[in-house]
Amino acid sequence: MKRIGILGGTFDPPHIGHLLIAEEVRVAQNLDDVWFMPSHEPPHKQKANADASDRVEMAKRATAGNPHFKVNTIEVNRLGKSYTFDTMKLFNQEHPDASFYFIIGADMVEYLPNWKHIEELLELVTFVGVKREGYKLASEYPIREVDIPLMDISSTDIRTRLADKRSIKYMVPEKVEIYIKEKRLYESR
Ligand code: ATP
Repeated sequence: MKRIGILGGTFDPPHIGHLLIAEEVRVAQNLDDVWFMPSHEPPHKQKANADASDRVEMAKRATAGNPHFKVNTIEVNRLGKSYTFDTMKLFNQEHPDASFYFIIGADMVEYLPNWKHIEELLELVTFVGVKREGYKLASEYPIREVDIPLMDISSTDIRTRLADKRSIKYMVPEKVEIYIKEKRLYESR
């Protein structure tokens, strides 16, 4: 049985917080791989700032150095809103020999009751939660907790820094920083 972690997100842009939680959960839960899965239009968030193609490219650059990390483009290719339930149902059909672990930061936990078919989704995946600065990891649903070093880094903060022409060095992998500069992403609010 293959054990696959899924890290869904906007990755607008991807940062070292994403990489660290993926690696910590991978090791703690003995996962074979972690798939970074950018969403096209996040159901519970406002529109992304960078194009889906740029977010995919940045995710690929961010994950390039880890042989266990892959970028899965199913949700960006599907266009419009994607629901985790639909995606995970498909993954389970396509990979009957795999079990899936869906990684979420504590800020996402409060939205779980609003997720499409959450009860059925709980049958399809094991949720693995990690703490996040300012949020509690408490939920009415069973969530496996993996302890990680707290990192108060968010894509929102990175975008604000870029708009203010402040440094983002060490907050994103160097390859991502170079891409952002080359493509002049996030220069205005
Ligand atoms: P934004 O600031 O634009 O809302 P974000 O930094 O939360 O973005 P997402 O791409 O939305 O990044 O996050 C994908 C997943 O990673 C979510 O489950 C989120 O909770 C988790 N996550 C992101 N950053 C961190 C962090 N620093 N610590 C723990 N979890 C994180």
